[in-house]
Amino acid sequence: MSQPLAVPAREAARRRSIAVISHPDAGKSTLTEAIALHANMIREAGSVHGRGGRSGVVSDWLELEQRRGISITSAALQFEYHDLVINLLDTPGHADFSEDTYRVLMAVDVAIMLLDAAKGIEPQTLRLFEVCRERGVPVITFVNKWDRPGKEALELCDEIETRLSMTVTPVTWPVGDGGHFRGLLKPADNSVTFYERAPGGATLAESTTVPTAEARLIAPADTAQAEESCGLLGAPDPATFAAGRSTPLLFGTALANIGVRELLDTIETLAPSPPPRPQADGTPRPVDSEFSGFVFKMQAGMDKQHRDHVAFVRVCSGEFTRGMGLVHGPTGRPIITKHALSMFGRDRQSVEHAYPGDVVGLVNAALLAVGDTLYSPDGPPAQFPPMPAFAPKHFAVARVADPGRSKQFRRGITQLEHEGVVQVLVSPSRGDATPILAAVGPLQFEVATFRMANEFNAEMRVESLNYELARRASPSDETALAGAPGVEIARRSDGENLALFRDQWRLRSLTTANPALELAPLFADQ
Ligand code: GDP
Repeated sequence: MSQPLAVPAREAARRRSIAVISHPDAGKSTLTEAIALHANMIREAGSVHGRGGRSGVVSDWLELEQRRGISITSAALQFEYHDLVINLLDTPGHADFSEDTYRVLMAVDVAIMLLDAAKGIEPQTLRLFEVCRERGVPVITFVNKWDRPGKEALELCDEIETRLSMTVTPVTWPVGDGGHFRGLLKPADNSVTFYERAPGGATLAESTTVPTAEARLIAPADTAQAEESCGLLGAPDPATFAAGRSTPLLFGTALANIGVRELLDTIETLAPSPPPRPQADGTPRPVDSEFSGFVFKMQAGMDKQHRDHVAFVRVCSGEFTRGMGLVHGPTGRPIITKHALSMFGRDRQSVEHAYPGDVVGLVNAALLAVGDTLYSPDGPPAQFPPMPAFAPKHFAVARVADPGRSKQFRRGITQLEHEGVVQVLVSPSRGDATPILAAVGPLQFEVATFRMANEFNAEMRVESLNYELARRASPSDETALAGAPGVEIARRSDGENLALFRDQWRLRSLTTANPALELAPLFADQ
Protein backbone atom coordinates (compact mmCIF):
# COMPACT_ATOMS: atom_id res chain seq x y z
CA MET A 1 0.00 0.00 0.00
CA SER A 2 1.34 3.46 -0.85
CA GLN A 3 2.02 6.18 1.72
CA PRO A 4 -0.80 8.59 2.64
CA LEU A 5 -0.30 11.94 0.90
CA ALA A 6 -0.21 14.90 3.28
CA VAL A 7 -1.03 17.72 0.84
CA PRO A 8 -4.20 16.17 -0.64
CA ALA A 9 -5.39 15.30 2.87
CA ARG A 10 -4.91 18.89 4.04
CA GLU A 11 -6.45 20.40 0.91
CA ALA A 12 -9.41 17.99 0.97
CA ALA A 13 -10.17 19.02 4.54
CA ARG A 14 -10.78 22.63 3.45
CA ARG A 15 -12.87 21.73 0.39
CA ARG A 16 -16.67 21.82 0.26
CA SER A 17 -18.39 20.61 -2.88
CA ILE A 18 -21.98 21.70 -3.14
CA ALA A 19 -24.90 21.99 -5.55
CA VAL A 20 -28.12 23.96 -5.31
CA ILE A 21 -31.30 22.00 -5.95
CA SER A 22 -34.48 23.90 -6.68
CA HIS A 23 -37.51 24.24 -8.90
CA PRO A 24 -36.99 26.62 -11.85
CA ASP A 25 -37.48 30.28 -10.80
CA ALA A 26 -36.85 29.70 -7.10
CA GLY A 27 -33.73 31.87 -7.50
CA LYS A 28 -30.83 29.49 -8.08
CA SER A 29 -28.97 31.79 -10.49
CA THR A 30 -29.57 34.78 -8.23
CA LEU A 31 -28.31 32.85 -5.21
CA THR A 32 -25.22 31.74 -7.12
CA GLU A 33 -24.43 35.35 -7.93
CA ALA A 34 -25.07 36.38 -4.34
CA ILE A 35 -22.64 33.71 -3.14
CA ALA A 36 -20.07 34.94 -5.67
CA LEU A 37 -20.48 38.42 -4.25
CA HIS A 38 -19.75 37.24 -0.72
CA ALA A 39 -16.84 35.04 -1.55
CA ASN A 40 -13.71 35.53 -3.58
CA MET A 41 -14.33 33.79 -6.80
CA ILE A 42 -11.33 31.84 -7.96
CA ARG A 43 -12.54 30.13 -11.08
CA GLU A 44 -15.65 30.03 -13.13
CA ALA A 45 -16.95 27.39 -15.44
CA GLY A 46 -20.36 28.62 -15.71
CA SER A 47 -23.74 28.67 -17.15
CA VAL A 48 -25.15 31.24 -14.77
CA HIS A 49 -27.28 33.75 -16.59
CA GLY A 50 -25.83 37.21 -17.04
CA ARG A 51 -28.09 39.86 -15.63
CA GLY A 52 -28.49 43.38 -16.98
CA GLY A 53 -26.85 45.97 -14.76
CA ARG A 54 -25.16 43.43 -12.54
CA SER A 55 -21.95 41.66 -13.11
CA GLY A 56 -23.42 38.42 -14.44
CA VAL A 57 -21.19 35.59 -13.35
CA VAL A 58 -21.01 33.89 -16.71
CA SER A 59 -23.29 33.61 -19.68
CA ASP A 60 -24.83 30.55 -21.22
CA TRP A 61 -22.75 28.64 -23.67
CA LEU A 62 -25.19 27.32 -26.12
CA GLU A 63 -27.33 29.39 -28.41
CA LEU A 64 -30.07 26.88 -27.85
CA GLU A 65 -30.11 27.66 -24.19
CA GLN A 66 -30.51 31.33 -24.91
CA ARG A 67 -33.23 30.71 -27.45
CA ARG A 68 -35.19 28.50 -25.12
CA GLY A 69 -34.35 30.48 -22.01
CA ILE A 70 -33.40 27.35 -20.13
CA SER A 71 -30.20 26.19 -18.60
CA ILE A 72 -29.13 22.91 -20.12
CA THR A 73 -25.51 22.84 -19.16
CA SER A 74 -24.14 22.41 -15.70
CA ALA A 75 -20.93 24.01 -14.64
CA ALA A 76 -18.66 24.58 -11.71
CA LEU A 77 -17.60 27.71 -9.87
CA GLN A 78 -14.85 27.81 -7.32
CA PHE A 79 -14.76 30.28 -4.42
CA GLU A 80 -12.66 30.98 -1.41
CA TYR A 81 -14.49 31.72 1.80
CA HIS A 82 -12.36 32.28 4.88
CA ASP A 83 -10.02 29.32 4.76
CA LEU A 84 -12.38 27.21 2.66
CA VAL A 85 -12.37 26.41 -1.02
CA ILE A 86 -15.97 25.94 -2.14
CA ASN A 87 -16.82 24.20 -5.39
CA LEU A 88 -20.35 25.11 -6.44
CA LEU A 89 -21.67 22.85 -9.17
CA ASP A 90 -24.64 24.08 -11.15
CA THR A 91 -27.58 21.75 -11.76
CA PRO A 92 -30.00 22.15 -14.66
CA GLY A 93 -33.42 23.01 -13.27
CA HIS A 94 -35.56 21.61 -16.07
CA ALA A 95 -37.05 18.18 -15.39
CA ASP A 96 -36.09 16.95 -18.88
CA PHE A 97 -32.46 17.10 -17.81
CA SER A 98 -32.87 15.26 -14.52
CA GLU A 99 -30.32 12.67 -15.62
CA ASP A 100 -27.67 15.43 -15.87
CA THR A 101 -28.71 16.73 -12.49
CA TYR A 102 -28.39 13.29 -11.00
CA ARG A 103 -24.83 13.05 -12.30
CA VAL A 104 -23.94 16.41 -10.76
CA LEU A 105 -25.39 15.27 -7.45
CA MET A 106 -23.08 12.23 -7.66
CA ALA A 107 -20.19 14.70 -7.70
CA VAL A 108 -21.06 16.82 -4.63
CA ASP A 109 -20.93 16.21 -0.89
CA VAL A 110 -23.75 18.50 0.22
CA ALA A 111 -26.81 20.11 -1.40
CA ILE A 112 -28.55 23.40 -0.74
CA MET A 113 -32.29 23.00 -1.18
CA LEU A 114 -33.60 26.37 -2.29
CA LEU A 115 -37.29 27.05 -1.69
CA ASP A 116 -39.42 29.95 -2.87
CA ALA A 117 -41.08 31.31 0.30
CA ALA A 118 -44.44 31.54 -1.44
CA LYS A 119 -44.33 28.08 -3.01
CA GLY A 120 -42.61 25.78 -0.56
CA ILE A 121 -41.62 22.37 -1.89
CA GLU A 122 -42.28 22.23 -5.62
CA PRO A 123 -42.24 19.05 -7.78
CA GLN A 124 -38.70 19.37 -9.14
CA THR A 125 -37.34 20.19 -5.67
CA LEU A 126 -38.95 17.07 -4.32
CA ARG A 127 -37.54 14.91 -7.10
CA LEU A 128 -34.02 16.25 -6.59
CA PHE A 129 -34.33 15.96 -2.85
CA GLU A 130 -35.13 12.28 -3.31
CA VAL A 131 -31.95 11.85 -5.33
CA CYS A 132 -29.98 13.44 -2.47
CA ARG A 133 -31.61 11.14 0.03
CA GLU A 134 -30.93 8.09 -2.09
CA ARG A 135 -27.28 9.17 -2.55
CA GLY A 136 -26.85 10.05 1.15
CA VAL A 137 -26.10 13.72 0.36
CA PRO A 138 -26.96 15.93 3.36
CA VAL A 139 -29.21 18.92 2.65
CA ILE A 140 -29.15 22.52 3.91
CA THR A 141 -32.43 24.40 3.29
CA PHE A 142 -32.55 28.06 2.24
CA VAL A 143 -35.95 29.76 2.07
CA ASN A 144 -35.62 32.49 -0.55
CA LYS A 145 -37.68 35.58 -1.50
CA TRP A 146 -38.55 36.45 2.10
CA ASP A 147 -38.86 40.07 0.92
CA ARG A 148 -42.17 39.08 -0.66
CA PRO A 149 -45.39 37.86 0.88
CA GLY A 150 -45.37 34.09 1.14
CA LYS A 151 -46.14 31.20 3.44
CA GLU A 152 -45.51 31.51 7.16
CA ALA A 153 -42.15 30.34 8.44
CA LEU A 154 -43.66 27.67 10.69
CA GLU A 155 -45.92 26.47 7.90
CA LEU A 156 -42.83 25.94 5.69
CA CYS A 157 -41.09 24.02 8.50
CA ASP A 158 -44.13 21.84 8.86
CA GLU A 159 -44.18 21.16 5.13
CA ILE A 160 -40.50 20.10 5.15
CA GLU A 161 -40.95 17.87 8.18
CA THR A 162 -44.05 16.13 6.87
CA ARG A 163 -43.19 15.81 3.19
CA LEU A 164 -39.46 15.11 3.48
CA SER A 165 -39.39 13.35 6.87
CA MET A 166 -36.55 15.54 8.13
CA THR A 167 -36.32 17.51 11.34
CA VAL A 168 -35.93 21.23 10.69
CA THR A 169 -33.24 22.97 12.72
CA PRO A 170 -33.11 26.76 12.23
CA VAL A 171 -29.79 28.56 11.84
CA THR A 172 -31.57 31.84 11.16
CA TRP A 173 -35.18 32.90 11.60
CA PRO A 174 -36.87 35.89 9.93
CA VAL A 175 -37.76 38.95 11.98
CA GLY A 176 -40.81 40.33 10.20
CA ASP A 177 -43.18 38.51 7.87
CA GLY A 178 -42.65 38.06 4.18
CA GLY A 179 -43.09 41.49 2.65
CA HIS A 180 -42.06 43.20 5.93
CA PHE A 181 -38.70 41.57 6.31
CA ARG A 182 -36.53 43.44 8.82
CA GLY A 183 -33.80 41.10 9.86
CA LEU A 184 -32.58 37.68 10.89
CA LEU A 185 -32.53 36.19 14.36
CA LYS A 186 -29.54 33.94 14.97
CA PRO A 187 -30.41 31.82 17.98
CA ALA A 188 -26.88 30.41 18.38
CA ASP A 189 -25.43 33.93 18.76
CA ASN A 190 -28.42 35.36 20.60
CA SER A 191 -28.36 38.22 18.14
CA VAL A 192 -30.47 39.86 15.47
CA THR A 193 -29.10 41.37 12.26
CA PHE A 194 -31.19 44.19 10.79
CA TYR A 195 -30.78 45.02 7.10
CA GLU A 196 -30.98 48.06 4.95
CA ARG A 197 -31.72 46.70 1.53
CA ALA A 198 -29.28 47.67 -1.18
CA PRO A 199 -31.14 48.91 -4.26
CA GLY A 200 -31.40 46.07 -6.77
CA GLY A 201 -29.16 43.94 -4.63
CA ALA A 202 -26.09 44.94 -6.60
CA THR A 203 -23.90 45.16 -3.52
CA LEU A 204 -23.94 43.63 -0.07
CA ALA A 205 -26.89 44.86 1.99
CA GLU A 206 -25.93 47.21 4.85
CA SER A 207 -26.55 45.53 8.16
CA THR A 208 -26.38 46.10 11.90
CA THR A 209 -26.13 43.24 14.35
CA VAL A 210 -27.37 43.72 17.91
CA PRO A 211 -27.95 41.43 20.89
CA THR A 212 -31.48 39.98 20.91
CA ALA A 213 -32.28 41.97 24.08
CA GLU A 214 -31.63 45.18 22.13
CA ALA A 215 -33.61 43.90 19.13
CA ARG A 216 -36.64 43.55 21.44
CA LEU A 217 -36.51 47.33 21.88
CA ILE A 218 -35.99 48.10 18.19
CA ALA A 219 -38.72 45.79 16.82
CA PRO A 220 -40.62 44.46 19.85
CA ALA A 221 -43.47 42.55 18.21
CA ASP A 222 -41.50 41.04 15.31
CA THR A 223 -38.59 40.00 17.56
CA ALA A 224 -40.90 38.40 20.11
CA GLN A 225 -42.71 36.47 17.40
CA ALA A 226 -39.45 35.27 15.82
CA GLU A 227 -38.09 34.13 19.18
CA GLU A 228 -41.28 32.29 20.01
CA SER A 229 -41.56 30.46 16.68
CA CYS A 230 -37.88 29.63 16.42
CA GLY A 231 -37.88 28.43 20.02
CA LEU A 232 -40.25 25.64 19.03
CA LEU A 233 -37.50 23.98 16.99
CA GLY A 234 -34.14 22.48 17.92
CA ALA A 235 -30.61 23.62 17.11
CA PRO A 236 -28.63 22.16 14.16
CA ASP A 237 -27.16 18.79 14.94
CA PRO A 238 -24.12 17.63 12.90
CA ALA A 239 -24.80 13.90 13.34
CA THR A 240 -28.44 13.86 12.20
CA PHE A 241 -27.61 16.37 9.43
CA ALA A 242 -24.85 14.12 8.09
CA ALA A 243 -27.25 11.17 8.22
CA GLY A 244 -29.91 13.09 6.25
CA ARG A 245 -32.35 13.10 9.16
CA SER A 246 -32.25 16.85 9.87
CA THR A 247 -31.78 19.95 7.76
CA PRO A 248 -30.29 23.26 8.91
CA LEU A 249 -32.77 25.96 7.83
CA LEU A 250 -32.01 29.53 6.78
CA PHE A 251 -34.15 32.37 5.51
CA GLY A 252 -33.23 35.26 3.26
CA THR A 253 -33.45 36.95 -0.06
CA ALA A 254 -30.87 36.12 -2.66
CA LEU A 255 -31.83 39.20 -4.66
CA ALA A 256 -30.83 41.52 -1.81
CA ASN A 257 -27.96 39.30 -0.63
CA ILE A 258 -29.62 38.81 2.74
CA GLY A 259 -28.95 35.59 4.60
CA VAL A 260 -26.29 34.47 2.15
CA ARG A 261 -23.33 35.05 4.47
CA GLU A 262 -25.07 32.91 7.08
CA LEU A 263 -25.52 30.23 4.43
CA LEU A 264 -21.78 30.27 3.71
CA ASP A 265 -21.05 30.13 7.45
CA THR A 266 -23.31 27.09 7.72
CA ILE A 267 -21.46 25.42 4.85
CA GLU A 268 -18.23 26.17 6.67
CA THR A 269 -19.28 24.76 10.01
CA LEU A 270 -21.64 21.93 9.11
CA ALA A 271 -21.03 20.72 5.56
CA PRO A 272 -18.70 17.74 5.23
CA SER A 273 -15.38 17.90 3.40
CA PRO A 274 -14.90 15.26 0.68
CA PRO A 275 -15.17 11.83 2.31
CA PRO A 276 -13.36 8.70 1.09
CA ARG A 277 -15.30 7.72 -2.02
CA PRO A 278 -16.86 4.25 -2.16
CA GLN A 279 -15.64 2.22 -5.12
CA ALA A 280 -17.52 -0.32 -7.19
CA ASP A 281 -16.33 -3.17 -4.93
CA GLY A 282 -17.50 -1.30 -1.81
CA THR A 283 -14.04 -0.31 -0.52
CA PRO A 284 -13.59 3.41 0.04
CA ARG A 285 -10.79 5.26 -1.75
CA PRO A 286 -9.05 7.41 0.90
CA VAL A 287 -8.67 11.08 -0.11
CA ASP A 288 -4.96 10.89 0.69
CA SER A 289 -4.21 8.09 -1.79
CA GLU A 290 -2.94 8.78 -5.33
CA PHE A 291 -5.07 10.65 -7.82
CA SER A 292 -8.46 9.27 -8.76
CA GLY A 293 -11.60 10.85 -10.14
CA PHE A 294 -14.57 10.26 -12.40
CA VAL A 295 -16.22 12.05 -15.30
CA PHE A 296 -19.62 13.35 -14.22
CA LYS A 297 -20.40 15.55 -17.16
CA MET A 298 -19.29 16.36 -20.66
CA GLN A 299 -19.77 19.65 -22.36
CA ALA A 300 -19.29 20.54 -26.00
CA GLY A 301 -18.86 23.82 -27.75
CA MET A 302 -17.67 25.82 -24.73
CA ASP A 303 -15.30 27.60 -27.04
CA LYS A 304 -16.96 28.24 -30.39
CA GLN A 305 -13.64 28.82 -32.14
CA HIS A 306 -12.28 25.46 -31.15
CA ARG A 307 -15.43 23.34 -31.06
CA ASP A 308 -13.94 21.44 -28.22
CA HIS A 309 -15.32 18.97 -25.74
CA VAL A 310 -14.62 19.20 -22.06
CA ALA A 311 -14.91 16.28 -19.68
CA PHE A 312 -15.61 17.48 -16.14
CA VAL A 313 -13.85 15.28 -13.64
CA ARG A 314 -14.59 15.28 -9.94
CA VAL A 315 -11.34 14.67 -8.07
CA CYS A 316 -11.85 11.96 -5.43
CA SER A 317 -8.33 11.40 -4.11
CA GLY A 318 -4.78 12.67 -4.40
CA GLU A 319 -3.50 15.62 -6.36
CA PHE A 320 -4.18 16.49 -9.97
CA THR A 321 -1.24 18.21 -11.62
CA ARG A 322 -1.59 19.58 -15.10
CA GLY A 323 0.37 17.44 -17.52
CA MET A 324 0.26 14.30 -15.41
CA GLY A 325 -0.41 10.99 -17.13
CA LEU A 326 -3.55 9.15 -16.08
CA VAL A 327 -5.05 5.75 -16.69
CA HIS A 328 -8.50 5.55 -18.28
CA GLY A 329 -10.27 2.97 -16.10
CA PRO A 330 -12.58 1.32 -18.65
CA THR A 331 -9.84 0.70 -21.26
CA GLY A 332 -6.63 0.84 -19.23
CA ARG A 333 -5.25 3.26 -21.82
CA PRO A 334 -3.12 6.27 -20.89
CA ILE A 335 -4.59 9.77 -20.93
CA ILE A 336 -2.27 12.69 -21.34
CA THR A 337 -3.47 15.81 -19.58
CA LYS A 338 -0.90 18.18 -21.07
CA HIS A 339 -3.37 19.89 -23.37
CA ALA A 340 -6.12 19.41 -20.90
CA LEU A 341 -6.87 22.75 -19.38
CA SER A 342 -7.73 22.54 -15.79
CA MET A 343 -10.39 25.11 -16.44
CA PHE A 344 -12.75 26.85 -17.49
CA GLY A 345 -15.36 28.99 -19.18
CA ARG A 346 -14.57 31.78 -21.56
CA ASP A 347 -11.30 32.77 -20.00
CA ARG A 348 -9.71 29.36 -20.20
CA GLN A 349 -7.48 29.73 -17.21
CA SER A 350 -5.47 26.70 -16.51
CA VAL A 351 -5.05 25.42 -13.02
CA GLU A 352 -1.88 23.66 -12.09
CA HIS A 353 -3.22 21.63 -9.18
CA ALA A 354 -6.55 20.28 -8.01
CA TYR A 355 -7.55 18.28 -4.94
CA PRO A 356 -10.40 16.07 -3.72
CA GLY A 357 -13.73 17.86 -4.16
CA ASP A 358 -12.44 20.01 -7.04
CA VAL A 359 -13.59 19.82 -10.63
CA VAL A 360 -11.06 19.57 -13.43
CA GLY A 361 -11.98 20.14 -17.06
CA LEU A 362 -10.12 17.90 -19.47
CA VAL A 363 -10.27 19.28 -22.97
CA ASN A 364 -10.66 17.09 -26.03
CA ALA A 365 -10.02 13.85 -24.22
CA ALA A 366 -11.86 11.92 -26.92
CA LEU A 367 -11.67 8.62 -25.11
CA LEU A 368 -13.72 9.77 -22.15
CA ALA A 369 -17.40 9.16 -21.51
CA VAL A 370 -19.67 10.13 -18.63
CA GLY A 371 -19.12 7.85 -15.66
CA ASP A 372 -15.54 6.85 -16.55
CA THR A 373 -12.98 6.49 -13.78
CA LEU A 374 -9.45 7.94 -14.10
CA TYR A 375 -6.52 7.24 -11.82
CA SER A 376 -2.81 7.79 -11.48
CA PRO A 377 -0.54 4.97 -12.66
CA ASP A 378 1.58 5.59 -9.53
CA GLY A 379 -1.07 4.33 -7.15
CA PRO A 380 -3.53 1.47 -6.84
CA PRO A 381 -6.14 1.36 -9.62
CA ALA A 382 -9.50 2.92 -8.76
CA GLN A 383 -12.92 1.99 -9.99
CA PHE A 384 -15.95 4.03 -9.06
CA PRO A 385 -19.46 2.74 -9.66
CA PRO A 386 -20.79 3.50 -13.15
CA MET A 387 -23.34 6.26 -13.60
CA PRO A 388 -26.73 4.62 -13.87
CA ALA A 389 -28.68 5.32 -17.05
CA PHE A 390 -32.20 6.51 -16.29
CA ALA A 391 -35.33 4.78 -17.50
CA PRO A 392 -36.17 6.51 -20.80
CA LYS A 393 -39.72 7.68 -21.40
CA HIS A 394 -39.43 9.14 -24.91
CA PHE A 395 -38.25 7.33 -28.00
CA ALA A 396 -37.52 8.45 -31.54
CA VAL A 397 -35.83 7.10 -34.64
CA ALA A 398 -32.93 9.21 -35.88
CA ARG A 399 -31.94 9.44 -39.54
CA VAL A 400 -29.34 11.48 -41.32
CA ALA A 401 -31.03 14.01 -43.66
CA ASP A 402 -28.30 13.78 -46.31
CA PRO A 403 -26.96 10.22 -46.80
CA GLY A 404 -23.68 11.75 -48.00
CA ARG A 405 -23.07 12.79 -44.39
CA SER A 406 -23.52 9.36 -42.82
CA LYS A 407 -19.99 9.33 -41.44
CA GLN A 408 -20.49 12.62 -39.59
CA PHE A 409 -23.88 11.36 -38.40
CA ARG A 410 -22.37 8.22 -36.87
CA ARG A 411 -19.58 10.17 -35.25
CA GLY A 412 -22.06 12.66 -33.81
CA ILE A 413 -24.37 9.97 -32.44
CA THR A 414 -21.44 8.24 -30.70
CA GLN A 415 -20.25 11.52 -29.20
CA LEU A 416 -23.72 12.47 -27.92
CA GLU A 417 -24.04 9.04 -26.41
CA HIS A 418 -20.66 9.35 -24.64
CA GLU A 419 -21.70 12.67 -23.25
CA GLY A 420 -24.99 11.26 -22.01
CA VAL A 421 -27.03 13.77 -24.05
CA VAL A 422 -29.35 10.97 -25.17
CA GLN A 423 -29.34 7.20 -24.85
CA VAL A 424 -28.78 5.34 -28.11
CA LEU A 425 -30.48 2.02 -28.76
CA VAL A 426 -30.04 -0.26 -31.73
CA SER A 427 -32.91 -2.41 -32.80
CA PRO A 428 -32.06 -5.46 -34.96
CA SER A 429 -35.00 -4.76 -37.27
CA ARG A 430 -33.91 -1.17 -37.97
CA GLY A 431 -30.12 -1.56 -38.03
CA ASP A 432 -27.52 0.84 -36.70
CA ALA A 433 -27.90 3.41 -39.49
CA THR A 434 -31.25 4.35 -37.94
CA PRO A 435 -30.67 4.20 -34.19
CA ILE A 436 -33.41 4.78 -31.66
CA LEU A 437 -32.77 7.77 -29.42
CA ALA A 438 -34.17 7.38 -25.93
CA ALA A 439 -34.61 10.18 -23.41
CA VAL A 440 -36.06 11.11 -20.05
CA GLY A 441 -37.48 14.33 -21.51
CA PRO A 442 -38.17 15.48 -25.10
CA LEU A 443 -35.90 18.54 -24.79
CA GLN A 444 -32.99 16.11 -24.95
CA PHE A 445 -33.96 15.33 -28.57
CA GLU A 446 -33.97 19.02 -29.33
CA VAL A 447 -30.47 19.41 -27.92
CA ALA A 448 -29.27 16.37 -29.88
CA THR A 449 -30.77 17.63 -33.16
CA PHE A 450 -29.33 21.09 -32.65
CA ARG A 451 -25.89 19.76 -31.92
CA MET A 452 -25.88 17.32 -34.83
CA ALA A 453 -26.61 20.15 -37.26
CA ASN A 454 -24.36 22.79 -35.69
CA GLU A 455 -21.45 20.79 -34.50
CA PHE A 456 -21.26 17.64 -36.59
CA ASN A 457 -22.64 19.14 -39.76
CA ALA A 458 -25.08 16.26 -40.08
CA GLU A 459 -28.65 17.37 -40.14
CA MET A 460 -30.77 14.81 -38.35
CA ARG A 461 -34.42 13.89 -38.78
CA VAL A 462 -36.06 12.66 -35.61
CA GLU A 463 -39.31 10.78 -35.83
CA SER A 464 -41.16 10.06 -32.62
CA LEU A 465 -41.94 6.45 -31.81
CA ASN A 466 -45.14 5.37 -30.19
CA TYR A 467 -43.56 3.94 -27.03
CA GLU A 468 -43.88 5.25 -23.52
CA LEU A 469 -41.88 2.95 -21.35
CA ALA A 470 -39.03 0.48 -21.28
CA ARG A 471 -38.17 -2.58 -19.24
CA ARG A 472 -34.99 -4.63 -19.00
CA ALA A 473 -35.51 -7.78 -21.06
CA SER A 474 -33.73 -11.03 -20.22
CA PRO A 475 -32.85 -13.43 -23.09
CA SER A 476 -35.94 -15.51 -22.31
CA ASP A 477 -38.11 -12.35 -22.28
CA GLU A 478 -36.69 -11.53 -25.66
CA THR A 479 -37.71 -14.88 -27.08
CA ALA A 480 -41.14 -14.68 -25.49
CA LEU A 481 -41.78 -11.18 -26.83
CA ALA A 482 -40.58 -11.81 -30.38
CA GLY A 483 -43.25 -10.70 -32.82
CA ALA A 484 -45.63 -9.35 -30.17
CA PRO A 485 -47.38 -6.22 -31.48
CA GLY A 486 -46.73 -2.90 -29.74
CA VAL A 487 -43.34 -4.08 -28.40
CA GLU A 488 -39.82 -3.64 -29.73
CA ILE A 489 -36.54 -4.95 -28.37
CA ALA A 490 -33.45 -2.76 -28.68
CA ARG A 491 -29.95 -2.92 -27.24
CA ARG A 492 -28.51 -0.06 -25.22
CA SER A 493 -24.76 0.54 -25.28
CA ASP A 494 -24.39 -0.42 -21.61
CA GLY A 495 -25.30 -3.93 -22.76
CA GLU A 496 -28.89 -3.88 -21.53
CA ASN A 497 -31.60 -5.20 -23.81
CA LEU A 498 -34.62 -2.97 -23.44
CA ALA A 499 -38.16 -3.93 -24.32
CA LEU A 500 -40.09 -0.84 -25.42
CA PHE A 501 -43.83 -0.77 -24.82
CA ARG A 502 -46.54 1.40 -26.29
CA ASP A 503 -48.02 2.04 -22.86
CA GLN A 504 -48.58 0.66 -19.40
CA TRP A 505 -51.67 -1.17 -20.58
CA ARG A 506 -49.75 -3.08 -23.25
CA LEU A 507 -47.08 -4.07 -20.73
CA ARG A 508 -49.70 -5.25 -18.27
CA SER A 509 -51.65 -7.29 -20.80
CA LEU A 510 -48.47 -9.03 -21.95
CA THR A 511 -47.30 -9.85 -18.45
CA THR A 512 -50.73 -11.13 -17.51
CA ALA A 513 -50.84 -13.37 -20.59
CA ASN A 514 -47.29 -14.58 -19.99
CA PRO A 515 -46.46 -14.81 -16.26
CA ALA A 516 -42.97 -16.16 -17.04
CA LEU A 517 -41.85 -12.72 -18.30
CA GLU A 518 -39.20 -11.21 -16.01
CA LEU A 519 -39.08 -7.65 -17.41
CA ALA A 520 -37.26 -5.73 -14.65
CA PRO A 521 -37.87 -2.00 -14.16
CA LEU A 522 -35.00 0.34 -15.03
CA PHE A 523 -33.19 2.84 -12.79
CA ALA A 524 -35.20 5.83 -11.53
CA ASP A 525 -38.42 4.49 -12.99
CA GLN A 526 -41.60 5.70 -11.37
P1 GDP B 1 -33.66 30.14 -11.25
O1 GDP B 1 -34.55 29.77 -12.38
O2 GDP B 1 -33.90 29.28 -10.06
O3 GDP B 1 -32.20 30.25 -11.60
O4 GDP B 1 -34.16 31.58 -10.77
P2 GDP B 1 -33.56 33.03 -11.01
O5 GDP B 1 -32.36 33.25 -10.16
O6 GDP B 1 -33.43 33.28 -12.46
O7 GDP B 1 -34.72 33.89 -10.36
C1 GDP B 1 -36.06 33.82 -10.83
C2 GDP B 1 -36.76 35.17 -10.57
O8 GDP B 1 -36.89 35.36 -9.16
C3 GDP B 1 -35.96 36.34 -11.10
O9 GDP B 1 -36.87 37.29 -11.60
C4 GDP B 1 -35.26 36.87 -9.86
O10 GDP B 1 -34.97 38.25 -9.94
C5 GDP B 1 -36.29 36.58 -8.79
N1 GDP B 1 -35.69 36.44 -7.46
C6 GDP B 1 -34.63 35.67 -7.11
N2 GDP B 1 -34.37 35.80 -5.80
C7 GDP B 1 -35.28 36.66 -5.30
C8 GDP B 1 -35.53 37.22 -4.01
O11 GDP B 1 -34.86 36.94 -3.03
N3 GDP B 1 -36.58 38.08 -3.91
C9 GDP B 1 -37.36 38.42 -4.98
N4 GDP B 1 -38.37 39.27 -4.77
N5 GDP B 1 -37.15 37.93 -6.20
C10 GDP B 1 -36.13 37.07 -6.37
